[in-house]
Amino acid sequence: MATSSPRQLYYDGQVRAASSGKTFQTVNPATATPIADIQSRIPFMVPNPPPIARARILQKAALILRQRNDEIARVETLDCGKAFTETSTVDVVTGADVLEYYANFIGGGGLNGETTQLREDAWVYTKKAPLGVCAGIGAWNYPIQIALWKSAACLAAGNTMVYKPSEYTPLHAQTLAEIYTEAGLPAGVFNVVHGAGDVGAYLTSHPAVAKVSFTGQVATGQKVAGAASGNMKYVTMELGGKSPLIICPDADLENAVDGAMMANFYSTGQVCTNGTRVFVPRSMKAAFEKRLLEKIPYVRAGPLFDEQTNFGPLSSAVHYEKVISYIRHGIQTDRATLLCGGPEKPDVPQDLQAGFWVKPTIFTDCTDSMRIVKEEIFGPVMSILYYDTVEEAVKRANATELGLAAGVFTKDLNQAHRVIDQLQAGITWINTWGESPAEMAVGGWKKSGLGVENGRRGIEAWVQNKSTLVDMSGAVVTVFAKL
Ligand code: NAD
Repeated sequence: MATSSPRQLYYDGQVRAASSGKTFQTVNPATATPIADIQSRIPFMVPNPPPIARARILQKAALILRQRNDEIARVETLDCGKAFTETSTVDVVTGADVLEYYANFIGGGGLNGETTQLREDAWVYTKKAPLGVCAGIGAWNYPIQIALWKSAACLAAGNTMVYKPSEYTPLHAQTLAEIYTEAGLPAGVFNVVHGAGDVGAYLTSHPAVAKVSFTGQVATGQKVAGAASGNMKYVTMELGGKSPLIICPDADLENAVDGAMMANFYSTGQVCTNGTRVFVPRSMKAAFEKRLLEKIPYVRAGPLFDEQTNFGPLSSAVHYEKVISYIRHGIQTDRATLLCGGPEKPDVPQDLQAGFWVKPTIFTDCTDSMRIVKEEIFGPVMSILYYDTVEEAVKRANATELGLAAGVFTKDLNQAHRVIDQLQAGITWINTWGESPAEMAVGGWKKSGLGVENGRRGIEAWVQNKSTLVDMSGAVVTVFAKL
């Protein structure tokens, strides 16, 4: 039974019914029961206040988000299956941070253009003009954070957005639209449409859409980028990864183990930047594995609103099947050594047993050619790869078509920067893993994406340049003068 009212479309500043009348369901991953019916289909359109006024609206929306943090986090927990300890401290907060960041940025003149004096009586000025109607298409792993990272920059830059959440986790979208309206955003500036890939594809090819900002899998991103760029639409692609984490021989063992666990088990491994290929010096093997196993009990599956729980189920039945089949493949076909975990369900209370629970799983003695090492699993599955020299580890770390994130643990300052410099990835960490503040521009290299979100560079993807040459000489330079 659905336990929440149906989610409809949001456009022209209010909730509206879908003309198609089509619906689909969203499911609580901890128990496998439906939460709400979602209506699907399409609307559209525009206006635009000046930057300082936009800044005030975005600031107010950030404030409302913070005030309603726990209520929104609760819905995210039910919709995505993430522990409340996580959604209440990360998902809404990191989204509101980006709204505040861009509000301050544009309020302080961050979108001003440049003026260049060419000659005494001529100059060039540039303007950063909005793109118009932009589409935001989200993944299911950080629903409200993704919605905010896209819409904050989009709206700050003066555009309007049609946002399509993932069909697996749609509940946050209407709430965010209502918050923007309450904060004073004019009707029609932030709109929500629901549906699966067909609705996403419709948005991507719609002639009124000037830009598509997409977060999702590489294979979907390739289709979206192909369709959008053929029509000269701007694109930002935030895609998947298979990121390397290199632990150097001099690294602090405790930090290395904590880093590897955060890089693999946080959010039940459903983080795009996960460091799933953990390169460990062969000399550290025994100590690393021992400490890792000692700490595995700190990963606590359980009731999602329990304050001890830090590990939820996977987000859907389909995704559960995918992750379990990778774990089976690792054992049966890749023949990696299973250090802990496996395909059986973890111990959870009776009422949760139908949920999409999986154990934190570690494979060791992995080799570069194994499928579990090459492909993004997007679950709590760590692969440990042993190496002899740091140069070798860097080379193997880069031997992938993906380049989302990378990291290194070492006490040697020079080594830290040298290794990071050599790693082919857009988001990198030294002696830590996963933090992604509003100030930090993030985006993948290679097939992991195009462009960045957040930071000063992030907003540049939501504007187009206009250069104007002004001539005050009083005469037009012409070759067509009388002889
Ligand atoms: P997905 O590609 O299956 O779906 C993403 C979105 O695309 C959904 O809203 C879906 O409805 C839509 N879609 C599907 N087909 C489409 C089409 N043909 N045209 C337009 N839209 C279409 O991805 P997912 O399974 O929801 O998300 C998990 C993936 O997202 C992982 O690979 C993860 O690494 C990646 N991810 C990346 C980042 C990042 O910032 N780089 C962040 C979060 C997740």
